[in-house]
Amino acid sequence: MTQHANNVIACRGGDATALEPRPVPEVGAGEMLLKLRVVGFCGTDLFKLDTGAAQPGTVLGHELVGEVVALGDGVTAFQTGDRIAVPHHVPCGTCLMCRRGNETMCETFRENLMAPGGFADTVLIKARATAQAAHRVPDGVSDEAAVFMEPAACVLRGVERAAVAADGVAVVQGAGSMGLLHLLVLKAALPGVRVAVVDPQADRRDLALKLGADAAAEPGAAAQAAVGNLTNGAGADAVFDTVGGAGPLKAALGLTRQGGSVVLFAHAPDGQTADFDLNDLFKYERRILGTYSGAVHEQGRVFDLIASGALDPTPLVTHKMPLDDFQTGLDLVRARKALKVLFTPSRAAEGS
Ligand SMILES: [Zn+2]
Ligand SMILES: [Zn+2]
Repeated sequence: MTQHANNVIACRGGDATALEPRPVPEVGAGEMLLKLRVVGFCGTDLFKLDTGAAQPGTVLGHELVGEVVALGDGVTAFQTGDRIAVPHHVPCGTCLMCRRGNETMCETFRENLMAPGGFADTVLIKARATAQAAHRVPDGVSDEAAVFMEPAACVLRGVERAAVAADGVAVVQGAGSMGLLHLLVLKAALPGVRVAVVDPQADRRDLALKLGADAAAEPGAAAQAAVGNLTNGAGADAVFDTVGGAGPLKAALGLTRQGGSVVLFAHAPDGQTADFDLNDLFKYERRILGTYSGAVHEQGRVFDLIASGALDPTPLVTHKMPLDDFQTGLDLVRARKALKVLFTPSRAAEGS
């Protein structure tokens, strides 16, 4: 095992970050140590940086594929050299929230099972994640596909909760990496569902069509017309909002059929309240759902979809760069010039 320091991207307060050396974590019983292969930059990481929510010293990053370099006592499911996809949160399975199917609200679920975090050359996976949620990536499945297990599981949770019929129509608001991932997960999990994607940016609408969207439109009248077309004027069975906030919620309700569902899948500004016609819910049986993160069930199902090739999110990867270039990746995402940015080990780790 390498003895050099573990280079990490550490938060420095506000949205500042820096590459800094840390000790390589010690592996305890039931744990495993992964050498980074790729880690995805996620909207939640961006949100935490933009809002200054990450304490100085925190290492963000949680969409991880790594290679096993050390195993703690008692770990028999994996071997050194295995490629592993693993999430950072695992519910307890026994509390009230878990028993009611709200596992992502479980108190235990909040604990970060990656140390120090995913934006690091070497990442310790704690025992609960190692035992219950880690998947060996089969040969033939790329790192770039497997790294989507965690974000795609979050998407699948919303898709399953919305209960879209097999021949239904869904709308995705926002064609960033999460919006386009909704499109791909919908098509993989429910191949008969037709999907319209709504985004103001023309290049992103073009990409949505290339990735299998049945329609793509600008927000507003064009979106209304496109959804009307696909549904004979009825409106969509479900609208997934990946933009966030009160305005997009209102727009989503306007695209949903009577009895249909709106799924909120984005952070809104803190404390923002919404304004919509309450009769959309009572009188017309529309539902507004929120889903947060993904749990073991969704991760397992998504992993199978990726492993079988039914779900291939790799076209969403627009940039891959070493951890040293973290700020460059962040700037590209902020400027909407990148979809999914993946980070690879630091230059120092690659050179050693
Ligand atoms: Zn994520
Ligand atoms: Zn629980």
